[in-house]
Amino acid sequence: MAKKKATVSLEGAVKTDAGLTYKGVVMEPIVEKCEGCERIVPFEGDNYCPTYAQPERKWAGGVCNFATHVRAEMDKAGKVKVNPLKASKRAARGR
Ligand code: SF4
Repeated sequence: MAKKKATVSLEGAVKTDAGLTYKGVVMEPIVEKCEGCERIVPFEGDNYCPTYAQPERKWAGGVCNFATHVRAEMDKAGKVKVNPLKASKRAARGR
C-alpha cells in the first residue's frame, strides 16, 4: 500500500517575537540550506519546518537528516558529503 504524505498545515499558529508558536513549540524560519526540501510549509510570508522547529540548529551539526532534497553520505575519509537527490528519485520514494 502506498503511503500517502500527510498535508501539514500550520493552522492556528501564532507569530510572536520569538518566532512562530505552534502547539506550544516556537518555530524558527527555515535556513538557506533547507531550500528545496519538501517539508517546508509556508506561513504568512515565511517558511517553516514542521519536522524540526529550529532548522538552523539542525544544519549546524552537518546535514539535516530529515531533508528530502539532499542526503548525507560519509566518504572514505569519514567526511560528510551532501548529495542532492534527483527529482525522479524523490518521486520514486512515494511522497
Ligand atoms: S526537514 Fe530539515 S531541511 Fe527540511 S525544512 Fe526541515 S530543517 Fe530544513
